[in-house]
This record gives sequence, C-alpha cells and structure tokens, in this order.
Amino acid sequence: MIISGTELSARLKAEMAAQMPQLEKEYGRVPCLAVILVGENPASQSYVKGKIKACEVVGMTSLLITMDASVSEAELLAKIAELNAAPDVDGVLVQLPLPAGIDESKVIDAISVEKDVDGFHPSNVAKLWLNEPCILPCTPKGIMKMIEETGIQVKGKKAVVVGRSNIVGKPVAKLLLDANATVTIAHSRTEDLAAVCREADILVAAVGKEAVITADMIKPGAVVIDVGVNRGADGKLHGDVDFAGAVEVAGAITPVPGGVGPMTICMLMSNTIECFKKRMTVNG
Ligand code: NDP
Repeated sequence: MIISGTELSARLKAEMAAQMPQLEKEYGRVPCLAVILVGENPASQSYVKGKIKACEVVGMTSLLITMDASVSEAELLAKIAELNAAPDVDGVLVQLPLPAGIDESKVIDAISVEKDVDGFHPSNVAKLWLNEPCILPCTPKGIMKMIEETGIQVKGKKAVVVGRSNIVGKPVAKLLLDANATVTIAHSRTEDLAAVCREADILVAAVGKEAVITADMIKPGAVVIDVGVNRGADGKLHGDVDFAGAVEVAGAITPVPGGVGPMTICMLMSNTIECFKKRMTVNG
C-alpha cells in the first residue's frame, strides 16, 4: 500500500472547503492565514507558494508578506506584532529558516499563541507534552493522519522514530506515545540503527539524509513514513528511505514527493481553521 499524501490531502482540503460557506455564514468571514517570507531562499519560496495555493483551494484568505533578507530582527518582530493584533488574521506563520542574524526562537516566541498555526510556540510545545489542548505541529499531525489512513491499530505497536528534532522527531514520538504505541527515538548516536529499525511496526524517518533507511532495516509489513526531503544528485527530491527497496518489504509506505509534504500543508490549513474557530468563539 502506497499512502498518497497528495490524495489524502486533496480529500481533506475538499472537506475543509465544504465547511467555508457555513463558517462565513456563522462568523461573517472565512479564516485568514498570514505568511511572512524573509529573503529569497528557493526552497522557502516554493513552500510558501504551496501554502498560499492551499489557502485558495480551501477557500480561505491569505496574506503574503515578503521581506528583504536584510530586514532587521526588530522590523520582523514589529510586523509579527502588527499581525498578532490584526482582528481579521487568524494564523501567523514565519517561514523558516531565517537569515543569519535573526534569532529564530525570539521570532517564534513573538507569535501570539492563539495564532501559532505551526504549533512551534513554547506554550504550544509545553501543552503538547502536558497533554493539554494545543495546536499540533503540522508535520507530526499529518503523519498521524497518514498512519490512521492505513487502518493499523497503533495501540501496543512498536514505533521507531529516527530523528529527534523539535519540529518532527520529538513531537511525532509524543503523538505516537499518546496513541499508545511503544516508542523508541533513534538519532545519529544510536548504536545499530538497523537493528532498532527492524523492531518497528511503525517506522518514521525524519533524518534529512537520502536512503539512510534501506529495505533490510524494515520489518516485513511495517508502516513506513518517510519525512525526509533531500535533493539528490539527479536533481530530484528523495526521501530518507530507499523507496524502491522498501516498497517490497513494507506493508504501507509514503512516497517522496507526494507523501508527508502535502499533508504538512494540509494540516496547516486545518490548524488555521482551528485557530479561527477558537478566536471567533472567544472573541464573540
Ligand atoms: P534535523 O536536521 O533537525 O534533525 C535530523 C535528525 O536526524 C537529528 O535528530 C539527527 O540526530 C538525526 N540523524 C542525522 N543523521 C542520522 C543518522 N545517520 N542516523 C540516525 N539519525 C540521524 O531535521 P528535521 O527533523 O527538521 O527534518 C528531517 C527531514 O525531514 C529533512 O529532510 C527535512 O527537510 C524534512 N522535513 C520535511 C517536512 C515535510 O513536510 N515533508 C517537514 C519538516 C522536515 P542528532 O539529533 O543526533 O543530530
């Protein structure tokens, strides 16, 4: 089974689009996502384009704010403060990475918790680990939807997450734990990574190295989620998993591209709607 993020996200976005007329009727407007892009990093430009396009598909409004790479931290923080205060903006996202000289954690901290559609704000991170209601980070949330899509019962299964970043590895491990999997987090210092991975009924690779996971590291029938996005020597995008070999062994596997990537953007739409509804309910 190939778990197509392209197909699943299209279905979920269509469901969100279908909600828009009702939201507009109830609250007088549709949700609005503001995206700040600093500089001209081609990958960031492409991600931002995808996010704005997704807003159009879902029928939400978006604001794209582009800032020169030479922008000062103070100017960026002032823009965030302005968007935090804007009544008609429901989500504020600053595309990472930021140019050298701008403190990313300061920028993330500056985004209002209520508008933190990426789920990166320390308050949202803390709430996730404290089992309190929060905005979930988009990639882990999308991964859980994809696992759900396979129909596998996560409870009691062995899950191995390769990678321990704050945006993917750690939060997805927490969500798997919440779903009652027995979770192992592997990383660059893990001894015998192959043996650790072979234990996994659910294997999530979030490393950022092409083909670091090969077929011999996969338990037959396992669900394999490939988060990696790596530009190969052939100029194409490749995951962290050697797909050609892995697809022969795995029970279900996500492709790259067309797997986790579109689901991440889809969950950003879902988070924006969530923030919108919460703000509308709280603010009347
Ligand atoms: P980071 O670089 O922050 O983290 C990578 C992790 O992989 C680290 O924990 C590191 O270990 C571990 N690692 C590195 N080399 C090895 C190795 N040889 N064996 C085992 N573990 C290793 O990356 P991110 O989590 O931000 O992203 C991971 C990948 O996912 C990237 O390709 C990124 O582009 C992609 N990505 C894709 C998204 C999508 O929507 N499709 C969204 C976000 C990311 P250590 O901690 O010890 O250094």
